[in-house]
Amino acid sequence: MSAVLRLDAAQLTANVRAVRGRMDPADVLVVIKDDAYAQGVEPVVRAALAGGARWFGGIDVPSALRAKAVAGDAARVVAWMTVTEAEAQEALAGGLELGVGDAGYLERVASASEVVGRAAPVHLKIDTGLHRNGVRPEQWAAFCARAAELERDGRVRVVGVWSHIAEASDEEDDGSRELFDDAVRAMRGAGLRPEVRHLAASAAAWARPEFRYDLVRIGAFCYGIRSEGGPEIEGVRPIATLAAPVVAVCDDAVRIGIGSADGVASLAAGRIGVGTPAGVRALRAVGAFESEIDAWPGARVGDEVRIFGPGALGEPTPTDLGEAIGTVGEEPLLRVSPLVPRVWE
Ligand SMILES: *Cc1c(COP(=O)(O)O)cnc(C)c1O
Repeated sequence: MSAVLRLDAAQLTANVRAVRGRMDPADVLVVIKDDAYAQGVEPVVRAALAGGARWFGGIDVPSALRAKAVAGDAARVVAWMTVTEAEAQEALAGGLELGVGDAGYLERVASASEVVGRAAPVHLKIDTGLHRNGVRPEQWAAFCARAAELERDGRVRVVGVWSHIAEASDEEDDGSRELFDDAVRAMRGAGLRPEVRHLAASAAAWARPEFRYDLVRIGAFCYGIRSEGGPEIEGVRPIATLAAPVVAVCDDAVRIGIGSADGVASLAAGRIGVGTPAGVRALRAVGAFESEIDAWPGARVGDEVRIFGPGALGEPTPTDLGEAIGTVGEEPLLRVSPLVPRVWE
């Protein structure tokens, strides 16, 4: 008996459908970074395709390559981490498109394309204030001029322009959007004709249509993770349930077979209730492999307890749990140990 991460493929399909409905006519890129938030790229891509997804994207090349291997020609897949020329070559050979937000990287991608033997599809990234990655506005014109030259030489094909925003305040996001619009104009002036402009992630895309452009990159909401401090999202529910069995019943406490080694934050002890057959019970203590919760009448070894999930037994959602320990809803998912089996149903 051990912990399990149960994943609901039909719910993921429904989430993707709901997000696509809301974003229409903008298209939706389903974010699959970090092994699809540690849930497993392949089943996530299959379920998202069933919901109509035609774009996937991630930071790391390996997750993106796995997505492309499943999707084939049914979807376009973008990887936006700045990587070595060798890794860019591997990405291009595997049919990926690349996010490029650095002049040196543009040259490496162009070299990689020669080895692969076809123009590299690239999405040029402007830094609109987040300073995480992306070409600074003052260097943008030169960057676009160089990209146009490489495009004429058949080494790159500029298919997109994009940026990433903080989504922390509307005012700051509006400033980013102005910089983005300027960048798109400058790019067209340089003779580039990107098919897709993409700026927003879950929160801004959901709430503010003017941020959607041609494509939005949605991670959290596809997995049923709402924004920290934000409202529940209509039509979207968590797809993951972290469950563990009762392994011992004492007088007023029950021990369950899951702990910090499996990915339950020690900090959650005393801060959340978990879902049990009798409803919510306080999580008292988190050990390495077992944890202790308040008992209920008739508790039996083997009963299922839920650490997080959609809430059917009163368990917190991943976002509720994240908030209780001072972080975002993705983190409880990313913490789940790779040794905990993922079971799709
Ligand atoms: C993770 C990520 C996203 C998705 O963000 P959500 O808020 O989870 O929708 C979008 N764009 C980039 C560049 C990202 O790294």
